[in-house]
Amino acid sequence: MKVALVSEHASPLAVLGGVDAGGQNVHVAALAQSLAALDHEVTVYTRRDDDALDERMVFCDGVEVVHVDAGPPTRLPKDHLLPHMGAFADALALEWTAAAPDVVHSHFWMSALATLDAAHRVDMELGGHLPVVHTFHALGVVKRRQQGLRDTSPAERSWLEPDVARRVDTVLATCSDEAFELKAFGVPSNRIAVVPCGVDVQHFTPTGPVAPRGERLRIMTVSRLVRRKGVGIAIEALARLVRSGVDAELVVVGGAGDSTHLDADPEVARLREVIRAEGVEDRVVLAGRVDHDALPAVLRSADVVVCAPWYEPFGIVPLEAMACGVPVVASAVGGLLDTVVEDVNGLHVPTRDPDALAAALAGLLADPERRSRYGAAGRARAETRYSWARVAAETAQVYDRVRMDDVDASRWSRR
Ligand code: UDP
Repeated sequence: MKVALVSEHASPLAVLGGVDAGGQNVHVAALAQSLAALDHEVTVYTRRDDDALDERMVFCDGVEVVHVDAGPPTRLPKDHLLPHMGAFADALALEWTAAAPDVVHSHFWMSALATLDAAHRVDMELGGHLPVVHTFHALGVVKRRQQGLRDTSPAERSWLEPDVARRVDTVLATCSDEAFELKAFGVPSNRIAVVPCGVDVQHFTPTGPVAPRGERLRIMTVSRLVRRKGVGIAIEALARLVRSGVDAELVVVGGAGDSTHLDADPEVARLREVIRAEGVEDRVVLAGRVDHDALPAVLRSADVVVCAPWYEPFGIVPLEAMACGVPVVASAVGGLLDTVVEDVNGLHVPTRDPDALAAALAGLLADPERRSRYGAAGRARAETRYSWARVAAETAQVYDRVRMDDVDASRWSRR
C-alpha cells in the first residue's frame, strides 16, 4: 500500500530532546520504518526548516522524506506554524493530484488541517475519496486545561482541533484516556481506534553496555525540559529522599543541547533554582540531551525511571525504560495509565505531589527484589504489547479498514 505520513513540525530526521523534538519524531520515524518492513511504500511529508535539506531524501529502504516548502526555511516553534499550513496544503495537493497515495496518516492537529484541505482538493480533481487517518499526539483541550495561560498554542486550536477530529475518516487514539476526550469532541466510537505508540525492543534491551555509575541509587528522568514534564517535582522528591537518609541521586536527561550547552534551555535556569533551593546540588546531574542511540546504556544505569508529568498524551520514555527492564514510577495520567501497570511493572503517583513521589520511590529503592520483578514484567509487556512490528501491523489494519469504507465515503464531508 502507498502510505503518506504527514508530520508538519516533527521530521523523522530531527534530533531529539529539544523543545519541539520529542516523541512525535520518534513515532513517525519508527512507524515509517516498520510499515516499510511490512512492504508498504512510505513517504513522509515534513516542513522544510533548513535551506540545506534536499527536497527528497531516502530515510531507509522503502521510506522517503519530502521537505515541503511552507514558510521560512528555518526552525520555527510549532506554535508559530499555523499561518503556513495553507502553503503546506498546496504542496500536498499538487503532489497527490499527480500520484495519489492509498491512504494518508497525519500527525498533530495542524498536519490534519493541511491534509484535509489537500485531500478535499484531490477528491475534487480525481474523483473518489482519499482516506485520512489521524493521530493527534497531544490534544489542545488537555494542554489548555493543564497549562492555562502558559499554553502558547494558537487560539484557533481550540475550535480547529475538534473540527479536524470530526472530519478525518478515523482517529488513532494512542491511549484509552484520549479516546474519552475524542468522544467529548463528538467523534463517533466507530471512527476511533486505540493504537498505542511503540518502542524499538531490539534497540532498548535489558542487556548491553551500561553507562558509568557509582554506589548511589540512581533515579532518572528522560524528557524535553519543559515545565509540564515534572522534572522539578522529581528534584523535590529526591530532596525528600535524601533528607530521610536515602543515598540516592537524580540524573536528568534531556534539554536543548549536551550538558555543556544547557544554558540555552530556558527551563534549565528554573530547575537550577529548584536544585539550589532544595540543597541537592551534589545529588542532581543535568546530563543534557543524550542521543537516542546512546540512550539504552544510560537507561540501564538507572534503578528506577520517573515520569512525573502534569499530563502526558502518551509518553514513549516509560516504554523505553520498560524495554530496558527498568521499573517506572509514573503520574497516573494519560497514556501512563495504560503503559504502567500498578505493582506489575511500576507504580502510579498523583501529579504535582513530591511527597507521594518520594514515598513511592522510597519503598521501591529499598526493595531490590521488587525492582527486578517490575523490570522483568516491564520488558515482557514492552515486547508483547508495544513492539513496533505489532503497532505498525495494527495501524495498517486501520488503513485497510478505512480503504474498505471508501465506498461509503460520501457519508463524510470534509467541508
Ligand atoms: N529523547 C532522547 N534524548 C533526550 C531526551 C529525549 O532521545 O535527551 C527521546 C526519548 O527517548 C523519547 C522521546 O525523546 O523517545 C520523548 O518522547 P515522549 O513521548 O516521552 O515525550 P514527548 O517529548 O513526545 O512529550
